[in-house]
Amino acid sequence: MDFNFTEEQTMLRDMVRKFVDKEVKPVAQQIDKEHNVDLIKGILKKGAELGLLGIPFPEAYGGANMGETGYCVLLEELSRGCASTSVTVGAHIGLAGTSILLGGSEEQKKKFLTPLAQGEKLGAYALTEPGAGSDAANIQLSAVEDGDDYILNGTKLWITNGDIADIVVVYGVTNPELRAKGGITAFIVETDTPGFSANRIEDKMGLRGSATSELVFQDMRVPKANVLGQVGMGFVIAMQTLDESRLSLAAATIGAAKELIAMSVSFATKRIAFNRPIAQFQAIQFMIAEMTAEVYQMESIVYRTAWMYDQGTKIPREGAICKLFCSEALDRIVDKAVQIHGGNGFMGEHPVERFYRDSRVNRIFEGTSEVQKMVIAEDVLKKGTY
Ligand SMILES: Cc1cc2nc3c(=O)[nH]c(=O)nc-3n(C[C@H](O)[C@H](O)[C@H](O)COP(=O)(O)OP(=O)(O)OC[C@H]3O[C@@H](n4cnc5c(N)ncnc54)[C@H](O)[C@@H]3O)c2cc1C
Repeated sequence: MDFNFTEEQTMLRDMVRKFVDKEVKPVAQQIDKEHNVDLIKGILKKGAELGLLGIPFPEAYGGANMGETGYCVLLEELSRGCASTSVTVGAHIGLAGTSILLGGSEEQKKKFLTPLAQGEKLGAYALTEPGAGSDAANIQLSAVEDGDDYILNGTKLWITNGDIADIVVVYGVTNPELRAKGGITAFIVETDTPGFSANRIEDKMGLRGSATSELVFQDMRVPKANVLGQVGMGFVIAMQTLDESRLSLAAATIGAAKELIAMSVSFATKRIAFNRPIAQFQAIQFMIAEMTAEVYQMESIVYRTAWMYDQGTKIPREGAICKLFCSEALDRIVDKAVQIHGGNGFMGEHPVERFYRDSRVNRIFEGTSEVQKMVIAEDVLKKGTY
């Protein structure tokens, strides 16, 4: 066993940390207050120059070949600064790019993954619909074969990057009788195609700098060459992509959690009550201890699972465990961080308030906590053992 990061991974962490301190943290509050997606786009442009948008992908497709572990390091560090930025990158790499990496032909990977990895184009992943979230097999967007094309009609909802993306991986129904068992197909959609439109949804509890959109497809033609992988294999690609992205989402929660501990320690050592810093009270120390114990568990399961994924192991159960545990742990941690900050933690000028709002969605998107439990239980029941 070797629990050390490689020299390359450590260098990546140092580089991203400096990048976040210089480019992300100073504007994170402004991104949130102004719902400023353009600031995030600017950060992505600078990140792309450092090769950050292709961290997990093979060099053959413009990536840095640093695998899942490298990608988890990237998201962890980004999340110390700004969840909206981290989620924008997550939808681009972990959802759109990973779908193409897992499902695409060699030609599709060269044509569509390379510009994503190099940051020339931005990606999104569109599965959820107004009537189908947890029950993703029940999507209705129709994809009907017509000559050399498929014609797409339907609506996708709450799609991260939806209105700023150049490429959206869209999941539609090609055979309504088969549905998840061979009737759902993934399409690589270029957003300048006639029949595609997107409307941004601004009013959100958190992630206010992240573009969340409704996508409308009206008689939109997609060439058959843009069918991702095989017709009917879309649901498999969608779920395998989520296995990976649930893990990287969990990595992102670690960065936020560590930042919250740092903020809490800094506050508790300066804030005076009853003639002493509040850090001297055992009640505060216990909260800091509990937060720290949670982070140790989060780090342990996430990087163990990233290592497994990089060895080629499939991780549906482990990805779901990481997502479930880490998203719930972050909510416990951020709640304590607000408590330690007292009234200051409730005020919009303090970043801890933003972290509190941004953290909540981790228990909802990419599969709710209940869905993660369903995935874990199904796997355990199938195997009959741990
Ligand atoms: C900010 C944001 C960004 C998003 N980005 C994307 C994106 O980029 N791409 C994309 O495709 N989607 C995206 N989503 C959608 C997200 O994945 C869904 O919101 C999520 O999967 C849950 O679906 P739902 O909201 O329809 O909830 P529902 O499915 O309506 O669930 C409501 C409640 O019922 C529970 N529930 C449902 N079924 C069961 C069951 N069988 N057993 C027990 N409990 C159950 C759920 O756990 C939940 O508590 C995003 C959502 C948000 C909020």
